[in-house]
Amino acid sequence: MKITRKINISVITEKKVLVSSTTVGNETIYCRQCAAEMLPAHISADFFGFSSRVIYRLIEADKIHFLETERNEIYICSVSVAEVLQKTLRECF
Ligand SMILES: [Zn+2]
Repeated sequence: MKITRKINISVITEKKVLVSSTTVGNETIYCRQCAAEMLPAHISADFFGFSSRVIYRLIEADKIHFLETERNEIYICSVSVAEVLQKTLRECF
């Protein structure tokens, strides 16, 4: 007699990104175009699940608001990234 077992294994992953206030020195950075708080590029990429390369392509294409500091650090406006993401999703569905 042959006994067959079927086992389903599900893996649920969850990613938490803790975003605290973005500051340079003691100053929070706000977008000059829409006044939203800005995040460093690498944190923005993690938060939205993009690679840094995608973030830099969006900058080059002038699709998102960004700021480069005197120390050559790139800050991204999260609202503009969210708008690009939302627009892309709307075009897909
Ligand atoms: Zn902005």
